Amino acid sequence: MRTGELGYWWRSLGGAVASRAPLAGPAEADVAIVGGGFTGLWTAYYVKRAQPQLRVVVLEREMVGFGASGRNGGWVSGFFSGPARVYERRGGRDGYLALQRAMFDTVREVGAVVAEHGIEADFLSAGQLTVAIGEAQASLLRRYVSEAHELGLSEHDLRELGREELAERLVVGGARSGAFTPHVARVHPAKLVSGLARAVENLGVVIHERTPVQEIRAHEALTPAGTVRARWVVRATEGYTAQLRGLRRALVPMNSSMIVTEPLSPTAWREIGWAGAELLSDGAHAYVYLQRTADGRIAIGGRGKPYRFASRTDGSGATSQATVERLRAKLRTMFPAAAGAAVEHAWSGVLGVPRDWCMSVAADPASGIAWAGGYVGEGVAAANLAGRTLRDLLLGEPSELVALPWVGRRSPRWEPEPLRWGEIHAVYALYRQADRMEAASGRPSRLARAIDAASGRV
Ligand SMILES: Cc1cc2nc3c(=O)[nH]c(=O)nc-3n(C[C@H](O)[C@H](O)[C@H](O)COP(=O)(O)OP(=O)(O)OC[C@H]3O[C@@H](n4cnc5c(N)ncnc54)[C@H](O)[C@@H]3O)c2cc1C
Repeated sequence: MRTGELGYWWRSLGGAVASRAPLAGPAEADVAIVGGGFTGLWTAYYVKRAQPQLRVVVLEREMVGFGASGRNGGWVSGFFSGPARVYERRGGRDGYLALQRAMFDTVREVGAVVAEHGIEADFLSAGQLTVAIGEAQASLLRRYVSEAHELGLSEHDLRELGREELAERLVVGGARSGAFTPHVARVHPAKLVSGLARAVENLGVVIHERTPVQEIRAHEALTPAGTVRARWVVRATEGYTAQLRGLRRALVPMNSSMIVTEPLSPTAWREIGWAGAELLSDGAHAYVYLQRTADGRIAIGGRGKPYRFASRTDGSGATSQATVERLRAKLRTMFPAAAGAAVEHAWSGVLGVPRDWCMSVAADPASGIAWAGGYVGEGVAAANLAGRTLRDLLLGEPSELVALPWVGRRSPRWEPEPLRWGEIHAVYALYRQADRMEAASGRPSRLARAIDAASGRV
């Protein structure tokens, strides 16, 4: 098994290499974007497309897709992070639903751009299945579906599946029931991010790799090679934001880890089913997320070690043996038919988590500083919506997008250390404890409800 190297997705493309020239000296631009992940690249794409005469430059510390955008689970998800009430406070129920509908549309938008530019990214409108393993997860899933319907989602958007209906799609050990939504698509993350970078360059955007931005100031991005002066500077640094001056407590870099098997045998696939290649998760509090890859493997991810002291981030994503074993054990329980399959690669990455778990996008005309992020584990599609919203904010276009309730929102700051470390580790240890209690009792635990309320996550 290999570990790190930015993960299997990059390795399947022959390895991760920064091939674009670094910034050579001071420069001027209309829009300077810091970070070459999905947020930065989608913003570059939509701004340049709307106004081709603008000089748009992307400044990336490592290489395009070095961060979560090249390492994720490949869920292009129409759902987004954080409790509905936080968005409702700004936009009411209608605003929340408008954001939800915009996210559903975003999954289709990503598919449309991929098709238009011929980006071969294994994009598949497969939908998502959540599987309840055990009775406690089944009652929690029922509650989740009915709460979503109370919020305004329809049966088409999200519906429960009985045990038999679920088994027609796939066979998961201990499954009691499931839920299905069509609003999630599958993608190969490194293919998408590298294809998008090429599409952006074809429009005339300049991408500099190996170009660290040390500080963002009004209309300026400071790098060791010199300052880039621009009408707008867009911060698209997500899990790495805490390393920028003045932003130490804005977003916490939370880890997520993945493993991927070798391609499964036709016999194993016959036993498992999963012909629709739906994105898949279980219903645990410390849940796992899975993808049936286009090349016939299973990729499974989960939290692993949740957070490093003082918001430190890793390099290439080397992953501890304990985390690998935990994910491997989960894979075996869910799919006994895959128990013999070798695990070929393990990796980790960081996602950006705001104190209230809710994403935001904003632009301040006075300083010319704009940003988007805080997607928690659901940023692949949300970054596309961010890119289109930033286009309208930067170009001063009144649009439905700039009226959505995540626009202009600010999350509270995280606590200083060591409180932050203690809190995050406690939350995940307690969620695991709640999962064990529920597996033993078959009933939803009050502990989980209490952690949800105390952490502000739900
Ligand atoms: C293991 C894992 C699994 C995930 N699974 C999913 C999933 O299945 N579906 C989903 O929706 N979301 C998922 N996520 C989250 C999702 O990947 C992210 O929300 C999304 O990719 C964020 O994109 P981004 O461009 O904002 O940030 P990133 O992709 O992290 O990009 C930020 C970029 O900024 C660069 N940078 C940072 N600091 C500087 C600086 N000072 N100067 C210049 N450049 C800088 C970094 O090198 C990096 O390339 C997952 C995340 C992880 C880690």
